[in-house]
Amino acid sequence: TIGTEDLQALFARLAEAMAHEKDRLCALDGVIGDADHGIAMELGFAAAAKAVSELDPATADPTAVFNTAAKSFLNAVGASSGPLYATALMRAGAVAKGKTSLSEDDMVDIMTAFAKGIQDRGKAEVGEKTMVDAWAPAAAACRDARDRGLPLADCLAAGLAAAEAGAEATKAMIATKGRSSRLGDRALGHMDPGAASAVVVISCFKSHFA
Ligand code: ADP
Ligand code: MG
Ligand code: MG
Repeated sequence: TIGTEDLQALFARLAEAMAHEKDRLCALDGVIGDADHGIAMELGFAAAAKAVSELDPATADPTAVFNTAAKSFLNAVGASSGPLYATALMRAGAVAKGKTSLSEDDMVDIMTAFAKGIQDRGKAEVGEKTMVDAWAPAAAACRDARDRGLPLADCLAAGLAAAEAGAEATKAMIATKGRSSRLGDRALGHMDPGAASAVVVISCFKSHFA
């Protein structure tokens, strides 16, 4: 099972990955947005990782980890990814509610909660060139693998493959939500930065639970 210390380590991994990917994500956002997406994701997950590292695993349950991460992410990030990921993290906290540890099944439900939280908060549908184009198919593929009886590592591998395909597919989309919707067809040919960072988040989930 997955407890508070596993989740603290997961957030440390997310912060490290975002620091590593920051320049690439800023460059993608520089083409169709305002070039700050890598900074937003790095700041958000650094703040989340620091805050959750200060929790005592003896008293803080998984819900406390996700809720603490959500608050810190929101406070650290001024960009639109702030409230989107804060909502995703709060929804993950709701999945964990009342549990001292999480099962493999719960982690698949958390993937779904992330995707649903982002969609509820931002009101974007698949095909609008946002992070939803990575998150929604990733969560669906993850659930599908679980329903076929596969272990969590395989569910997350399926989720990651779907997220990568979804992010790739944003290159052929025109944005109708978010900053890049002002560009019209000038956004064609370029990957959405939020979909690219979703791949990074999901790849951390996958490597953490592999
Ligand atoms: P900002 O545009 O405020 O600078 P970021 O650069 O951090 O914010 O994030 C941009 C990303 O946010 C986009 O690439 C897109 O994936 C995502 N995004 C923007 N608006 C929405 C929305 N309504 N729903 C889902 N994702 C969105
Ligand atoms: Mg931006
Ligand atoms: Mg911005």
